[in-house]
Amino acid sequence: VPHDRVLRAIAAELGAAGVVTDRDRVASHTTDWTGRFTGEAAALVRPSSTEEVAAVLARCHEAGVAVVPQGGNTGLVGGGVPRHGEIVLHLGRLRGVEPVDEGALQVTVSAGEPLAGLQAAAADAGLAYAVDLAARDTATVGGTIATNAGGLHVLRWGGTRQQLMGIEAVLADGRVVSHLGGLVKDNTGYDLAGLLCGSEGTLAVVTRARLRLVPRHEARVVAMVGFVDVAAAVGAVARWRRRVASLTAVEVVLAAGVDLVCEVGGLPPPLASRPPVLVLVEAADRDDPTAAVASAVEATDGVLDVAVATNEREAAALWRYREDHTLAINTLGPPHKLDVTLPMAALARFAAEVPDAVTAVEPGARTWLFGHLGDGNLHVNVTDLAPDDDRVDDVVLRLVASLGGSISAEHGIGRAKRRWLDLVRSPAEIDAMRAIKHALDPRGILNPGVLVPERTA
Ligand SMILES: Cc1cc2nc3c(=O)[nH]c(=O)nc-3n(C[C@H](O)[C@H](O)[C@H](O)COP(=O)(O)OP(=O)(O)OC[C@H]3O[C@@H](n4cnc5c(N)ncnc54)[C@H](O)[C@@H]3O)c2cc1C
Repeated sequence: VPHDRVLRAIAAELGAAGVVTDRDRVASHTTDWTGRFTGEAAALVRPSSTEEVAAVLARCHEAGVAVVPQGGNTGLVGGGVPRHGEIVLHLGRLRGVEPVDEGALQVTVSAGEPLAGLQAAAADAGLAYAVDLAARDTATVGGTIATNAGGLHVLRWGGTRQQLMGIEAVLADGRVVSHLGGLVKDNTGYDLAGLLCGSEGTLAVVTRARLRLVPRHEARVVAMVGFVDVAAAVGAVARWRRRVASLTAVEVVLAAGVDLVCEVGGLPPPLASRPPVLVLVEAADRDDPTAAVASAVEATDGVLDVAVATNEREAAALWRYREDHTLAINTLGPPHKLDVTLPMAALARFAAEVPDAVTAVEPGARTWLFGHLGDGNLHVNVTDLAPDDDRVDDVVLRLVASLGGSISAEHGIGRAKRRWLDLVRSPAEIDAMRAIKHALDPRGILNPGVLVPERTA
């Protein structure tokens, strides 16, 4: 069996701690965070340095053994879990944040470092890392790069790709590419960092990254604003973006989702009037942005109710109504998670049509909508549906594409949406992706079955 030979060779290089075959320990890495995607792994391989990652990939490449890179396993499209006996290449031992370069406002970080570790190191230097998301304690820097994670502050600072100043990665054949100098201007050909960002473990394994840091703004205001409907909330986004330069987040939740979060977490309702649509708005700056936010909200149509946090504890309490959605929905069983973007002009129509589109296919299914409204990004979660029943996914993703949106805003394609990539990418684009994949991973050992669609003809 090639796996046995390869695993023995890897164990010889990494030591016994580097290769795990114990069924229970391996099993905790073979199902995704939602519980929807699961599979079999030959083993769990745990390198602790770039050199060890290189040694593992060289062996696997030689033997044609497939590898699934995995960070914190918080990905939501099934891209980080094995299917048919691949090796899971767990990057959790590649930890560490180098000292912050305070002259350049940059830092070099190892791929297995949790996002929260990077954020804490930035805060210690009086700075911030711009990307933040609810899975911060578990999601790794490498995973956020591999998925080009968006998160809560894209509106202000962009997504992960916008933070990436350089990368170190191991190619499928074990060679290391490293470009970590962090030069702001560096037009010397193809941008490998940008290419690997969002490649979901299909082109190379990220081992280190050079990331930009942003100013840390201590003066912060968080408010929850109730609206009559989604259209009014969408109208507010454009108004607030014009009037409040320090806007850092505009997030939307609906009454049903808030009720579920309250029930699961034992929380009181955030707004006494229980409006149908709630928007969490956050602004942060050197000087207190409360007055700017208050006057923008006052001048907004369709507002029913407002709660403003007056301290950090209250701010965190308001954020819970948004951040706890993922967790609360998971208590209903494995959801279908369809993370989509719409043009702002089509977002209200989509939100109105999507629940009916779902129940037309499966009358018992329930639709939950929430997301990063400021980016036009809605998370459509559907529960009370069998994990492998794709009919609802199909209807929702086609509706998105027909309205000019994207089938993945920030979670990626993974296994979950590979079938539908051609709704939003042309045949020429998909051919170009296949050509890149083949050039960097000619034997197809990196994350087979993820992202790049199979050739059908
Ligand atoms: C509660 C919750 C909230 C979330 N909120 C957001 C959000 O707001 N925005 C957002 O964008 N995402 C969000 N996510 C999704 C998830 O956290 C991100 O996709 C995150 O980037 C995944 O990081 P990870 O380390 O867990 O990666 P994993 O889940 O382990 O892997 C994800 C993908 O990256 C690949 N990969 C992982 N590490 C590497 C590496 N070092 N080199 C090459 N490929 C690699 C894997 O093969 C897989 O395809 C959320 C998830 C949860 C559970």
